[in-house]
Amino acid sequence: MVRIRMHGQGLHIKSPRAFPSLLSFFPGILTPAFSDLLWVGENATYFRFPALSLRGRLEHAVFTRLAGASDPPYQSLNIGDKVGDRLENVSANLLRIKEEIGAEHLVFMNQRHGHEIVVLRQGRFILPKEPPPADAMITDIPGLALMVKQADCQGIIILEPGKGVLANVHCGWRGNVQDIAGRVVALMKREFGCISSRLMAAIGPSLGPCCAQFVSHKEIFPESFGPFMVRENYFDLWALTCGQLLAAGMREENIEVAGICTRCRSDLFYSYRGEGRTGRFGTVAMLR
Ligand SMILES: [Zn+2]
Repeated sequence: MVRIRMHGQGLHIKSPRAFPSLLSFFPGILTPAFSDLLWVGENATYFRFPALSLRGRLEHAVFTRLAGASDPPYQSLNIGDKVGDRLENVSANLLRIKEEIGAEHLVFMNQRHGHEIVVLRQGRFILPKEPPPADAMITDIPGLALMVKQADCQGIIILEPGKGVLANVHCGWRGNVQDIAGRVVALMKREFGCISSRLMAAIGPSLGPCCAQFVSHKEIFPESFGPFMVRENYFDLWALTCGQLLAAGMREENIEVAGICTRCRSDLFYSYRGEGRTGRFGTVAMLR
């Protein structure tokens, strides 16, 4: 990846970032500045997490919707192949992402808002013919790029830097209800011997507390989500996920949150709530 830092040229913060509630729950969480997250590569504009970037064994990017091949309403780096976009445009966008990351293989899932987790292990790896029905992947294979597709849901990257074990997780509110983040941490411990206090995690751009309205929360959320309601019917799903990662044994200082709401920033990311018929953006992570 050729990276050129961009300092506020054209991409500005339109709305204040919604950190206050997150930090009131967990003051030790890392909340990088917008200018530290934003990168402009040769062929794509993306976000990278500063603490994860310090780890030499990891390549990662949350791709914005900019600089792709798709036409409105999917403009332009759409990777969703089931949203009505032309498949040749989706393929061109996937190729761009693969080249930008420098991956040998780019793998993604048939995401279901469930809690199935795919483990891709060295020595036992066969490239799936079809995207597996799952919402998280864990691997120890270098050169294999794991990609999550989203439009308001969270993409959560989890890394054990010492052992070289990586997970990429798709987590919407149904994922929170099923504690998919906690399940992934548990599986990283069981399958690879990871130690949760050494894990690093990053929660990317997704629906923020400003826009995460759930009028039927009494029916769909367990009572334990109550403390994360920040005003009538609005929930801080970033804090909720952080709470689940911490409950799984992670440390606050090892968790980064982009704090960028996809619905407020549909100029940069796809938002299902904000746009309805729209594309999907990609969170990609790969061990080197
Ligand atoms: Zn918002």
